[in-house]
Amino acid sequence: MKNKNSIFLIICLGLFSISCSIGVNVNNPAPLVQEVKPVIGNPNDVKANPGFFALQPLGYAYDALEPHIDARTMEVHYSKHYLGYTNNLNKAIAELGIQPVSIENLLKNLDMNNMPLRNNAGGYYNHNLFWENLTKSNEAFPKGELAKAIVRDFGSFTAFKTKMAEAGAKQFGSGWAWLVTDADGKLSVGSTPNQDNPLMPGMKISGTPVLALDVWEHAYYLKYQNKRDSYIEAFFNVINWDVVNARYEKALKK
Ligand code: MN
Repeated sequence: MKNKNSIFLIICLGLFSISCSIGVNVNNPAPLVQEVKPVIGNPNDVKANPGFFALQPLGYAYDALEPHIDARTMEVHYSKHYLGYTNNLNKAIAELGIQPVSIENLLKNLDMNNMPLRNNAGGYYNHNLFWENLTKSNEAFPKGELAKAIVRDFGSFTAFKTKMAEAGAKQFGSGWAWLVTDADGKLSVGSTPNQDNPLMPGMKISGTPVLALDVWEHAYYLKYQNKRDSYIEAFFNVINWDVVNARYEKALKK
């Protein structure tokens, strides 16, 4: 008799829970549109593997350069591409068992046949400059010694801008456009393929980089697709001329 009651109770509880779960489904249907989690993270959360060179902090939020450079592009660029160059550079250095004096010193004395080191040391250094180059509080024109040197060496700021934009637009495939200075402070503009840069031996453009423009598709494709020209135009709206001028004046003192 006791067993029969227990079985009856279990069946009742079972039926009750089934009806409850049906009720839940009827009254609270699953939302048709899944709630979208924010895709934009925090650059400070990006962590490199332990290694010789540290990630350079971005210094601003991923969306700081909107609408000129979109947040998603900045996030993928910094947290995936740049992180990859940094980790792979450290891996290459560890395999060689070397302890470079600095990234600049490593690049100037680079074995150009060591492709993993060349690509990743370039990728690390070039992006460090690029992040520093950018700001949301852009001023239209450079100041200080750089402003004077641009007029002296290119004729006008507009002439320089056209030359820099052309260098980026005409670089076939992936690469970088550069404003560099020689030891005497004379400026020139040019481009390099892949992750090469003007510090490496035997480049067509040589000197101390002052301004770096990334023209890899990963730098603009999400927002600008094939319109590299539009991205380059937008780049001029987010240049940090204080940093670029400071870099030029520092190069002059050396
Ligand atoms: Mn890049």
